Amino acid sequence: MNPVGKPGKTGSLMPVEQALARLLEMAEASPIVEREFLPLAEVEGRVLAEDLVSTLDLPPWPNSAMDGYALNLADWTGAPLPVSQKVFAGQAPEPLKSGTCARIFTGAPVPAGADCVEMQENTEVQDDGSVRFIETMSVGQNIRPQGQETTVGELILAAGTRLGPIEQGLAASLGCAGLNVVRKVRVAVLSTGDELVEPGRPLGPGQIYNSNRVVLCSWLQRLGCEVIDAGILPDDLATTRARLGGLQGVDLILSTGGVSVGEADFLGIALREEGELALWKLAIKPGKPLTVGHFRKVPVIGLPGNPASTLVTFALLTRPYLLRRQGVQDVEPLKFTVPAGFVWPVAGNRREYLRGRLEQGRAIIYRNQSSGVLRSAAWADGLVEVLEGRTLVEGDEVGFIPLSDLLG
Ligand code: AMP
Ligand code: MG
Repeated sequence: MNPVGKPGKTGSLMPVEQALARLLEMAEASPIVEREFLPLAEVEGRVLAEDLVSTLDLPPWPNSAMDGYALNLADWTGAPLPVSQKVFAGQAPEPLKSGTCARIFTGAPVPAGADCVEMQENTEVQDDGSVRFIETMSVGQNIRPQGQETTVGELILAAGTRLGPIEQGLAASLGCAGLNVVRKVRVAVLSTGDELVEPGRPLGPGQIYNSNRVVLCSWLQRLGCEVIDAGILPDDLATTRARLGGLQGVDLILSTGGVSVGEADFLGIALREEGELALWKLAIKPGKPLTVGHFRKVPVIGLPGNPASTLVTFALLTRPYLLRRQGVQDVEPLKFTVPAGFVWPVAGNRREYLRGRLEQGRAIIYRNQSSGVLRSAAWADGLVEVLEGRTLVEGDEVGFIPLSDLLG
């Protein structure tokens, strides 16, 4: 057992589960209802808008799983059988003549009357062209029965399924040339901060390059969102009001920075004036402060500006929110348990999401876990979850959330 950390401050912080539940409720209150019909090749990364029900049996008829010979087992006495027809994939066979076998190839329909396919490796073709079967055989062997994969009327993919190459293939196998998908979520990305400069320009005193913008814009695109890149927002109330006012057609305004209780929280002021504002203090590290609200009627999520905080709060909260708005039910990231390959001697009062890697089946963590260090995430291939109040010795279990899942 691990010692439990100091109680106390945790009480005033919002557990991540609670924050997620609230965000998902908000998402369900404003689902994206518009849909569009897209050719199958264009649905990758989108969300299915209606159930996909099979109009076919798959396979549509019994077919051969092997290159070999189809026969009726009752005709087999041990003596060679003459070959009465050849059936290639794509052909419609004649019924099997009794007392004969049919040469057959993988994927070809099994002739009516045949109840068994023997693979060619277990046969011997005689000088007269008849076929001797060497091994004992059984009814149904090497035959893929009609409807073994899918039958007419079966639910194949439920509305709310995220579509990737495999789902596209499944729809293709059922003959769908296109699918009804939920329209893209339109997300405006705003980077707040007087200190920010876009890459490619010289840095002045006190300035840093804007990295959150490109992280979020690329990530959102991967999630199938339509991105409205709203650029850098200076720390100024009038500009903040005006800029937010110009983003009324979007489904979400996603900003970074300016959410700590600092004096430069103009986003918060604007939301309070012309919408609604909640400032959450999350029990996670990095990423404590989160702004959630509306500007006029548009939902707003304000992520903390430190790059690792932006990453963690986007991954754990914004990503599920955006997926749920499109009707996806299964929105939580993949997480599994691995042994820690590091020690954690001092328990914290917030859940830690350390940037880490798996090495020989154990989670190890980047040397610098500062929330300002994006390099930790570039080095990492996952977030290592250390629960609040816990200390760890090597070998203790920690949660591991692969970045590959979060980014996809
Ligand atoms: P803030 O939440 O505005 O107090 O910002 C917290 C920290 O994150 C500060 O050090 C900011 O300079 C930094 N930061 C804010 N926005 C960005 C950004 N878009 N790219 C890189 N760093 C940022
Ligand atoms: Mg700032």
